[in-house]
Amino acid sequence: MIKRANRSRNDRDNNDHGSHDHSGAVSAIETNEFGRPIELCAVEADPDSPTAWMSDGNCRLYPPAAFFPSDGVGVDRARKICKDCPVVSRCLDYALEERIEHGVWGGCSERERRRILKRRRDDAARSGTDTGQLVAIV
Ligand code: SF4
Repeated sequence: MIKRANRSRNDRDNNDHGSHDHSGAVSAIETNEFGRPIELCAVEADPDSPTAWMSDGNCRLYPPAAFFPSDGVGVDRARKICKDCPVVSRCLDYALEERIEHGVWGGCSERERRRILKRRRDDAARSGTDTGQLVAIV
């Protein structure tokens, strides 16, 4: 309800994402660009969790669906959010290590992560071949 009310107000304001409407009245609820109330986005994480870093990600302020886009425009939008995320490297490493196939993680699309993994496999295979050649020479 709150999200819908804020979103339509924002639409009327022609994508003004601030907390003021045309009448000059100030809304008590500050929302992000998706109309999600910011105070509802802050979730306390268990600091001992191996994924505690996620609570520092910029995506905590956006609906999860924003990171599972169905087209290139959505991927670009998610990448922009990731761009200045303080845990972007950690996030990408996590997605690669866990072989997460879907969604935008660490500023990379599914296709980009597949490429990174392929490159790593190729590099590992090449270095394995090189080692084998050295052993054969020695
Ligand atoms: S890099 Fe992107 S997906 Fe990962 S935590 Fe940051 S905002 Fe979220």
